[in-house]
Amino acid sequence: MIANTVVLALLAASVTLATPIPASSSGSSSRRSSGGSHASSLQKYTHFFSAHSSAAKSILPRVAATLDLPAVSDITSISHSSSDDATTFTRPIYAGNAIATVRAGKDIPLKVVTVRATSFAPLSGSGKEVSATEVAPVEDEAASSLTKHLETSVSTSDRPDLGTAKKVVSGGRALKNKETFQKTLDPLAEVLGAAVGASRAAVDAGYADNSLQVGQTGKIVAPELYVAVGISGAIQHLAGMKDSKMIVAINKDPDAPIFQVADAGLVADLYEAVPELVEKLK
Ligand SMILES: Cc1cc2nc3c(=O)[nH]c(=O)nc-3n(C[C@H](O)[C@H](O)[C@H](O)COP(=O)(O)OP(=O)(O)OC[C@H]3O[C@@H](n4cnc5c(N)ncnc54)[C@H](O)[C@@H]3O)c2cc1C
Repeated sequence: MIANTVVLALLAASVTLATPIPASSSGSSSRRSSGGSHASSLQKYTHFFSAHSSAAKSILPRVAATLDLPAVSDITSISHSSSDDATTFTRPIYAGNAIATVRAGKDIPLKVVTVRATSFAPLSGSGKEVSATEVAPVEDEAASSLTKHLETSVSTSDRPDLGTAKKVVSGGRALKNKETFQKTLDPLAEVLGAAVGASRAAVDAGYADNSLQVGQTGKIVAPELYVAVGISGAIQHLAGMKDSKMIVAINKDPDAPIFQVADAGLVADLYEAVPELVEKLK
């Protein structure tokens, strides 16, 4: 088993290259010979971990392809066998309806992996025993002639970060538009000290920023409290929040699928229920 301290410390970083366990035997197969020049310069590394963030989902498959290596994404558990230098991962597939067990053997000299952060407890202690290597950005002239970075726009909020918040209030299509979404959900998020999330329908309709989408193609969250307001509970949404400790659903349709995963459900019109709830929580 790879030491937890090492693996979990890497979750905080967007992309981290580290030497978590002693270097493996060379083991590069002939199948991977085309990536050999890159891979051989990385021989001292055995694992390349990143949190399963939007950036990593975009970058890591490219890193793996450049090195002519496979990538394993969104892992929820890990164990390592030093005797045969193989690492075994589990990862949810089909929107979390099945769990795949994936084994990366010693013929894969560098395991490129993204980690579902909510599946691991935070590292306790200082974490000082973890050593990390700073990697300087590489100027690639060929790439920069094809694409040019114009600007980075970062959306800022005083609210807790959606990915790590202990409480999340999410809204769906029923919120009608951006103004109603904010007017209805912000007071509830405020009084609970919660982050705001959204269904894809709400994001696609422009009610909420893309970065707030929860689900299979959005963020995976597992807060202590998840309040789903006017969200039907489509399987793709559930894939992003069903591991929440306490799920509360407000929906006017008693047959909405969200009630099947909810610990507490309120069958009501959200435009009456949410303001009333806010008043009671104040
Ligand atoms: C490949 C793929 C990936 C996807 N990824 C995601 C994803 O990451 N995240 C995601 O969320 N979806 C995702 N989807 C979309 C998903 O299938 C659903 O379409 C979406 O989640 C529905 O959003 P919703 O619940 O807000 O809307 P709806 O399904 O339209 O539900 C609205 C709900 O609001 C209730 N309602 C209406 N008015 C009121 C009211 N006044 N008071 C109370 N309740 C009310 C209704 O009863 C209904 O249950 C994906 C789909 C695909 C195909």
